[in-house]
Amino acid sequence: MAPVRLMIGFALAATSLLSNPVAAQTAPSRPITLIVPFAAGGPTDVIGRIVADSMSRTLGVAVVVENVAGNSGVTGVTRAARATPDGTTLVVGNMGTHAAAVSLQANLPYDPLRDFAPVGLIASTPMLLLASPRVPARDLPAFIAHVKANANRLNFGTAGVGTTSHLACAMFNALIGVEVTHIPYRGTAPVLNALISGEIDYGCDQTAGALPQVLAGTVRGLAIATRTRTPAAPDLPTSVEGGLPDFQATAWNALFAPRGTSPEVVARLAAALQTALADPAVSARLTQLGAELPAPADREPAALTALVRSEIDKWGGIIREAGIAPAP
Ligand code: ASP
Repeated sequence: MAPVRLMIGFALAATSLLSNPVAAQTAPSRPITLIVPFAAGGPTDVIGRIVADSMSRTLGVAVVVENVAGNSGVTGVTRAARATPDGTTLVVGNMGTHAAAVSLQANLPYDPLRDFAPVGLIASTPMLLLASPRVPARDLPAFIAHVKANANRLNFGTAGVGTTSHLACAMFNALIGVEVTHIPYRGTAPVLNALISGEIDYGCDQTAGALPQVLAGTVRGLAIATRTRTPAAPDLPTSVEGGLPDFQATAWNALFAPRGTSPEVVARLAAALQTALADPAVSARLTQLGAELPAPADREPAALTALVRSEIDKWGGIIREAGIAPAP
């Protein structure tokens, strides 16, 4: 009798899925690949992994982070844009990949607005100006004087042209009027290692990547590029306090699916992201890293579309005004 009951059960389940195609479509039964377009251990990776865990529990499938680093994040983001739009491939984008890169990269192979179905905003994180502990300057005014006096001998590291770390450091250089050798890495985790070893002199990163090293003293935090200090590192002075008030840059991270992903699937993924961000354990981990969480309405897919559009315009204007040259 048991096998017969089992077969009837299977038949009923199959019938209900067939008669309800939306349920079948919105319930990914295969693991989800969450592409992180930068090296492991950087802010995109850290933030992606925090929400992946929770989303995996909500959705009942594994959400597997895959670091597809290189070429300023373009390799991973492009792979996501071209993936089958069935909800099983997502990418963690950010203010660089989905906004600043439009103005800083000459031949971006994807269009942040046209090629993606936005799922939701995860969090915003201020940018930090960081120095190697080997650099003699200990605060922002002394560091500015040091860079101006030694510009042709120094170098700075970023996650590549058009990334948030590149934008912030290029903005810093433009504001103080220097040209310094740029060394691109596959993400800001390797930038932090290069700062610690003294391979590079300075760099920039989102708080979510660099704050633990800054608080441990292995990397020198010179300024947070915001008007107010962050409760996550109350001793870290702002750029305003350091005498460079126009050095203002906040990045954000968000989830995107490929264009063509059905609205039902996007809604289900967006709901799982909302559940993750409403979890006090998740929000505590993010805020400890200096992240600010958006209000629930600002996390919705439509709000993310609006954010990407306005950030492309905003950073395009700042990049032009500051005279930050796009890469060839
Ligand atoms: N978010 C960093 C950047 O855009 C890269 C990373 O996450 O490693 O520079």
